[in-house]
Amino acid sequence: MSDCLFCKIASGEIPSSKVYEDDLVYAFLDIDPQAPTHFLVIPKAHIGSCGEITPENSAVVAHAFEIISQVTRQMGITDFRVVSNCGPQAGQSVPHLHFHVLAGRDMTWPPG
Ligand code: AMP
Ligand code: ZN
Repeated sequence: MSDCLFCKIASGEIPSSKVYEDDLVYAFLDIDPQAPTHFLVIPKAHIGSCGEITPENSAVVAHAFEIISQVTRQMGITDFRVVSNCGPQAGQSVPHLHFHVLAGRDMTWPPG
């Protein structure tokens, strides 16, 4: 998608601090970290949010979670939270599917 911030980050058009990359997903540090470890995992192909996951594009979601497991393991992180905000009321500010991975501090529940 031409005018999407995270599509531009995934393609390298906008710089980011890369954590992981392969053909399907890109992971990078959040610019405004909410925990000592806070990175985002995105599909390279544009999907607007969790609300746009379909049988045709859902394989990348399983892959993203496989990468979350792999990267956290490599970082030595055992306790972490994965969050995906879907829609403005839920706090989504960038309309390209992304999974926040947060770790390194105590977390509360329910989230605000
Ligand atoms: P959300 O508000 O759930 O849509 O999450 C979007 C996240 O993207 C926020 O945590 C922002 O801090 C983060 N973000 C926005 N712009 C950038 C950027 N250029 N590089 C890295 N993270 C960003
Ligand atoms: Zn996009």
